Amino acid sequence: MEVDDTVCSIDAKFTNEVSALLNPPHPLHLQEYFDNVISRRQCRGIKVKQNGELGKALYADLDFKEGELVLKDQMLVGIQHCSNKIDCLVCSFCFRFIGSIELQIGRRLYLQDLGVSVNHESDLETFKHIPEDCCQTDSSDGEDNSLMNNHDNLGNCASSSSKERFPLPREVVESLMNGELVLPYSKEFSLPPVVRCAGGCGEAFYCSKSCAEADWELSHCLLCTGESSKSLCREALLKFIQHANDTNDIFLLAAKVISSTILRYRKLKVTHLEEREKCATPNVSDHSDISLLLEAWKPISMGHKKRWWDCVALPDDVDSSDEAAFRMQLKELAFKSLQLLKAAVFSKECEPLFSLEIYGQIIGMFELNNLDLVVASPVEDYFLYIDDLPYPEKQEAEKVTRPFLDALGDDYSVCCQGQRWPSNNYCTQTHLQGGRGYNFICR
Ligand SMILES: [Zn+2]
Ligand SMILES: [Zn+2]
Repeated sequence: MEVDDTVCSIDAKFTNEVSALLNPPHPLHLQEYFDNVISRRQCRGIKVKQNGELGKALYADLDFKEGELVLKDQMLVGIQHCSNKIDCLVCSFCFRFIGSIELQIGRRLYLQDLGVSVNHESDLETFKHIPEDCCQTDSSDGEDNSLMNNHDNLGNCASSSSKERFPLPREVVESLMNGELVLPYSKEFSLPPVVRCAGGCGEAFYCSKSCAEADWELSHCLLCTGESSKSLCREALLKFIQHANDTNDIFLLAAKVISSTILRYRKLKVTHLEEREKCATPNVSDHSDISLLLEAWKPISMGHKKRWWDCVALPDDVDSSDEAAFRMQLKELAFKSLQLLKAAVFSKECEPLFSLEIYGQIIGMFELNNLDLVVASPVEDYFLYIDDLPYPEKQEAEKVTRPFLDALGDDYSVCCQGQRWPSNNYCTQTHLQGGRGYNFICR
């Protein structure tokens, strides 16, 4: 597929709309927006200031103690990296660890084991017969094991663990997952029970009904591959997800941005129509669709953007003479991904969002504001707790826990890792955490 031959027809059709969407906000609007964000979060002592040359930065006008929480903000979109999904079961909305210590360990050992033979049909069959008592669900037939059923999408995701491990018998791992085997002191580390996606995808899990609903409203209803999905075509959606997992999961984040913008647009339109009906006067200003789309796009418009294929740093192993070809490859990759996404969630009213220019700039925005999502693992805390127990208790507990620690290997403490986009997208982390760069810790 040659991008230049097929220059996205939407780009050609919506030149004006696309440039309106990409027009950087006026400095005054930007200031107002960030002042608003900060006052809504009720935090003291910080302010976003702009500098024409250097961009936006967060300034403190109070002294903060080391380790003090300066700003707690909601992320707009975030994803857990595909490879991390084997290691950590987290809420798909707030990324908190869910289930239980036993489930976290058991599931990881199970999937690690399976990783070796993920393409064998017999293994996949075995998969489906593990009861799932730990999961809040109405089904009781034991056949429906969606906590594990996302193996299709995990098939390409190598686990982060690679060091020497001492595997346990499958029955032991299963008894850990289904709650028959309870580890000593695990009650000290209780986690919220697993809530499944009501759309039936078996890929998204949550810590609570409220997270499940919030995610559904925000973007998941369009990106859910389950029966209740509001996407145009679930097969197309699966193809899009597969392509992203095979190439770059940044496309999944971009899909969340586009889907959430479409959904915000639809809500704004409903409100707008209701207001118009209420007033029912001929003088009411008539918003064109682009103004509603611009409003829905507003949180994203605040982020600094460039085209992905133009702003990616040239990797060391690519010769500078191949740079043009490398950038063209990225552009083609984005184009392919966009076509797959379009087949899954296209919306006629929000058509400009499906231009290659917009897609490239959304992905470039993530590239330029590389914000890691990091959530510390309760499994690590659990093993540290056992290690810190006084002598006789420790010895007793370790009789049970040691084989699991050995089976997990050196990477037992791996945390939840992903990428996110905050609503207040300045480089807060750089200023506040100095040498730690862009790592952002979510608790
Ligand atoms: Zn949650
Ligand atoms: Zn779902």
